[in-house]
Amino acid sequence: MSNYQVNEKGYYGTFGGAYIPEMLYPNVEELRQNYRQIMDEPAFKAEFDKLMRDYVGRPSPLYLAGRLSERYGANIYLKREDLNHTGAHKINNTIGQILLAQRLGKTRIIAETGAGQHGVATATVCALKGLECVVYMGEIDIQRQAPNVARMKMMGAEVRPAKSGSKTLKDATNEALRDWINNPVNTHYIIGSVVGPHPYPDLVARFQSIISEETKKQLKEKTGSELPNYALACVGGGSNAMGMFYHFLDDESVRLIAAEAAGKGVHSGHSAATSVLGKEGVLHGSRTILMQTPDGQVIEPYSISAGLDYPGIGPQHAWLHKIQRAEYVSITDDEAMQAGLLLTRLEGIIPAIESAHALAQLEKMKFKPEDTVVVCLSGRGDKDLDNYMKYFGF
Ligand SMILES: *Cc1c(COP(=O)(O)O)cnc(C)c1O
Repeated sequence: MSNYQVNEKGYYGTFGGAYIPEMLYPNVEELRQNYRQIMDEPAFKAEFDKLMRDYVGRPSPLYLAGRLSERYGANIYLKREDLNHTGAHKINNTIGQILLAQRLGKTRIIAETGAGQHGVATATVCALKGLECVVYMGEIDIQRQAPNVARMKMMGAEVRPAKSGSKTLKDATNEALRDWINNPVNTHYIIGSVVGPHPYPDLVARFQSIISEETKKQLKEKTGSELPNYALACVGGGSNAMGMFYHFLDDESVRLIAAEAAGKGVHSGHSAATSVLGKEGVLHGSRTILMQTPDGQVIEPYSISAGLDYPGIGPQHAWLHKIQRAEYVSITDDEAMQAGLLLTRLEGIIPAIESAHALAQLEKMKFKPEDTVVVCLSGRGDKDLDNYMKYFGF
């Protein structure tokens, strides 16, 4: 077992574990005892692979971005998760978890969502499988993200507003956990990133690891080597980054770079740059690093991209950061918006603002002409057009 993967106790070094109320223990324990075995079953793998291929549209292309490469003086490849069904990488995980839930005999699915992207991906797979779906969402987020709320309703999901606290993601998470405690037998809780109590970070990383699994094969075909010099991805909770890094973790020559949202500036008070501002603590059931006040209150994060304004990072990222296997960098709103426009103008691809954070890092790096660089394009920018319009005044 690699030093970078979870140990049998559910920890990545000093991070991870399952810090949950006792009433949740049976639910999490059922999952922990069964997930590896179920995921290893040939029938499970076959169904997962088939849906990835015929429903999601995988493998997603690995695209050599010619004009972007020219600009930065290296061979820059984009892993096109934006071309997946529903427009982002999140569907890889929700497909995996719905198959897991079915095999555990669950008939009802719950999820929490902030910007609504994970809620949409969850509602989608519930429609696909005909399972009841309840998505918890902060009341304020429901107002801010009307198109995604409409998508979820169209898919047949019930969107329940979280009306407590700041009426955003963390309150929705609390409501979802309460629901799960009350419905332990028939309900599975689909968490949307590599966060939460063990085994969620590990199982989400495994489902998303298809990103680097495909990338390796595609690089081998295109360049003769399966290893890039650099692999880049943006980090909210960290699931697309973990998927991009997963099969490169033990290849120490590959430099792994994760871009966090610095919002209006790392020290502006309006940021989500967890690796810089965060301290060790417990968030959403695992020990990790998170933005918190000296007395341990979670600090409300900010980023122009709704998918990145999470106050922590998953425990595996906290560990990779601590032991410096991956490098965590901060990208401001302005840098990301410019990178989003640049990709659009050079390649005719409008990226999600989240993904634009990873692209913005290219601007700050020095490459050799023979370098191979892979950037995870986690999602498409259709959902962000209003934001881009307002920002650039088009
Ligand atoms: C949700 C989302 C993210 C952030 O989530 P991770 O778990 O960090 O990957 C990034 N990009 C897009 C397009 C998203 O929808």
